[in-house]
Amino acid sequence: MTTTSLRNVVPPPRRSAFFSYVLSICAVAPVVVFVLLLTGRGFSDSIPESGGPAVWLMAIMAIIVELRPILTPGSRYSLTAMISLSFVMAILITWGFIPALVVQTIVAILVFGGMGAPVWRIGFNAAQFALALSASQLVLLMFDLSGTEFIAGAAGLGTFLLAGLAWFFTSHVLVGCAWSLRFAQPWWRALTSSFGYEAVVHCALLGLAPILAVAAAVNPWLVVLAAVPIFAVSRMARLSADRERMALTDGLTLTPNRKGFQQLAGDTLAQMADSRFRMAVVVCDIDNFASVNNALGHGVGDRMLNELSRRFQQHCSGPGTVVARIGGDEFAFLFSEIDSVQDAYTAASSIQTALQEQVWLDEVCIDVSGTIGIACYPDHGDDFDDLFRRANVAMAEAKERGSGIAVYTPESDNHSPERLSLLGDLRRALETEALPGIELYYQPQIDLKHGDVVGVEALFRYRHPTQGPIDPSDLIALAEHSAVMRVLTYRVIEECVAQLSRWLADGLRLRASINVSVRDLHATDFCDYLFERLEVHEVPAELIRLEITEGALMADPRRVVTTLKRLERGGVSLSLDDFGTGFSSMQHLRRLQVSEVKIDKSFVLGMRHDTESVAIVRSIIELGRSLNLHVVAEGVEDEATWRQLIGLKCPSAQGWFHARPMPPAALAEWMVRYRPPELRVAEQQTSMVTKPQ
Ligand code: C2E
Ligand code: MG
Ligand code: MG
Repeated sequence: MTTTSLRNVVPPPRRSAFFSYVLSICAVAPVVVFVLLLTGRGFSDSIPESGGPAVWLMAIMAIIVELRPILTPGSRYSLTAMISLSFVMAILITWGFIPALVVQTIVAILVFGGMGAPVWRIGFNAAQFALALSASQLVLLMFDLSGTEFIAGAAGLGTFLLAGLAWFFTSHVLVGCAWSLRFAQPWWRALTSSFGYEAVVHCALLGLAPILAVAAAVNPWLVVLAAVPIFAVSRMARLSADRERMALTDGLTLTPNRKGFQQLAGDTLAQMADSRFRMAVVVCDIDNFASVNNALGHGVGDRMLNELSRRFQQHCSGPGTVVARIGGDEFAFLFSEIDSVQDAYTAASSIQTALQEQVWLDEVCIDVSGTIGIACYPDHGDDFDDLFRRANVAMAEAKERGSGIAVYTPESDNHSPERLSLLGDLRRALETEALPGIELYYQPQIDLKHGDVVGVEALFRYRHPTQGPIDPSDLIALAEHSAVMRVLTYRVIEECVAQLSRWLADGLRLRASINVSVRDLHATDFCDYLFERLEVHEVPAELIRLEITEGALMADPRRVVTTLKRLERGGVSLSLDDFGTGFSSMQHLRRLQVSEVKIDKSFVLGMRHDTESVAIVRSIIELGRSLNLHVVAEGVEDEATWRQLIGLKCPSAQGWFHARPMPPAALAEWMVRYRPPELRVAEQQTSMVTKPQ
């Protein structure tokens, strides 16, 4: 399926330039022909005896060979080659310019009319060929060559070769200019894009013309025999065009494949700058397709893909829409006539509609679903590679969120060149101790009953040499999907344990919470590394608590059970971070030996303003109490929230009200100055009362 806009349609802003060009060619051609005819050399001086039947035979054969025109693959919708060229050139040599022009014009009208081309296009192509033939005639006139006399010597053949080249170059340049004006491509690209292939085919066709001319002079029936190689060339050109088309088509669903999709999208994009429409590149990955293949075999899997492709084509059949299968279970869609990103979303929803109905295969009923990513031109990129990559980023985001469809957002894009380079810089900084920029900050956690500092949370900080401090949440999200995360976690473990050891040596016994990602816990050597560092720095394991976000842990708790058991046996406790934002089951809380939950700061920050947040915080505190879990409220920013938490009997808290995260040296100083908030507030109140007015 190809986009409607590519067929014989000219983008509106280019219309005036393009049609002026077409009109000038259509006007110039008759003038040139007329001037050539003024020379009085419209017919050959030495028409062979067999002239009558032979010219008719060649004219008929010129039409026959063009009955099934060979089209270029892809979206250009133009001829690969004029196979009738051999006959036309043979007629030119033998009978002269006028008969050749008449036959060529009739062939052009029949071929392009038969392809359903608009009148302007038929006119342009007829004029283009007329000018090309005029160029050939001019060469023949210049060398005063006509009739079959050129056979007599090499010079004559050379002249004919020149005439043939004049035809090819004139035709090629005229079409190249039209293409360049129509699709705003640089002229050199329009001229060179298919030059090699067309030159080979045209040379073969032109080379056969003298043989046809000689055959016609000797015996008209020899023309039929001499035409056999022309059919061979035609067949070769067709096979080659078919092969090229197959290279752009998916053999199973017969929709465009990745390369074909890329070409169609690229051609469509070339016109988008002038279009009032937006274009959406949409990718859809069929969920769990591997299990269909594994359970029912690849034959059934293929049938399923065929069925899905049929449904997609049925549901996504609007103008400017392309459906393609670009990989195993991946489909891609192009919507090039949409008005907004919202429209793209609606169009993509029709893909989901196509998947809603179950698929019956071998009496097995299969529920199908897909994950869809959307990127729009010009909103999310202006070349195909960017749009395609970003549609895939959106798809990955949809997978992660389980939302089914996602539109590209830069925040979810961890793979832009800037982010990749940031990741590279971070990795270098992590691996090279000598490089500055990496630091651990520590934020105190306060026991709400007595006001004591019960521990600290270690928080990673990175100051980029040119970009300055990078937001830790962004950085972790970036690193989390890469191997850098492991390097980061190990560096944090090493620095934090070394710091605890220094504090112990200074007589400060503090417990530290270290944030780890769930992928860290999948690594088999994680526990070995942690216990080894504790041993080296002589730090007791109970001084370490690992924080892992609730959402990440609960997504696949079974994979980490072994690691968590080992940590527990070794004396390292586990805290569920950002609690309340994921879905924990009571059973998992017990089985995973969680010893602490940290109420997500969004609820704590909301306590002052909405009762729902208060209700959530209260229920988490009660849950902690009944399951014997320690509870920390994070994000305590002010006195009012602190008081509310004391009222709810929350065991401990962490937040700016007590202290911001700070470097280790600042923390040590802070600890010396620290006064429990109860005393601090009381002192403030006293000082306000006693302050002279
Ligand atoms: P988190 O583990 O939930 O850390 C608490 C975040 O809340 C910290 O943000 C902290 O600075 C901030 N915070 C503390 N008190 C308050 C407050 O009163 N109000 C507000 N609005 N915010 C407060 P930070 O340092 O930007 O870290 C963000 C997230 O980055 C952390 O959230 C954690 O998920 C991740 N992270 C930081 N360091 C590491 C690390 O070493 N490893 C891993 N895996 N993740 C880390
Ligand atoms: Mg944390
Ligand atoms: Mg948190």
